[in-house]
Amino acid sequence: MIQYSLRCAEGHSYDAWFKSAAAYDEQKARGIVLCAICGGRSVEKAMMAPAVARKDSERVSLSAAHPEAAKVREFLRQYRQKVVNEADYVGDKFAEEARKIHFEEVAPRGIYGEATKDEVAALVDEGVEFLPLPDVGEEN
Ligand SMILES: [Zn+2]
Repeated sequence: MIQYSLRCAEGHSYDAWFKSAAAYDEQKARGIVLCAICGGRSVEKAMMAPAVARKDSERVSLSAAHPEAAKVREFLRQYRQKVVNEADYVGDKFAEEARKIHFEEVAPRGIYGEATKDEVAALVDEGVEFLPLPDVGEEN
């Protein structure tokens, strides 16, 4: 999906979604891109650079000042401590090792380590189960 800011000859502007840049061009060529406000036919893109749908993976959910926050933080701290104590640290080989465990190429065991955003996305696609390891500072 691609989002364009459109503006008609009457000065109406609005945002519209298209399946792709090519789909917009095709609809525009057929004269079926109409102003959402007045139905006018002379509609142009208001911006040269289209905004591509934001990836939700780039956002994080946050909360603040919940009465249970201290309890949750303590739980997460203990969870992290348990993982660090009991699982094997595999460093930047996390994706590789998690995949081996998932596809039963090696005996199951607890591991933790680091992965890049792309590796995380690939693991999700492959159905490999894992959790973010919370990093819980005193004030975070
Ligand atoms: Zn209009």
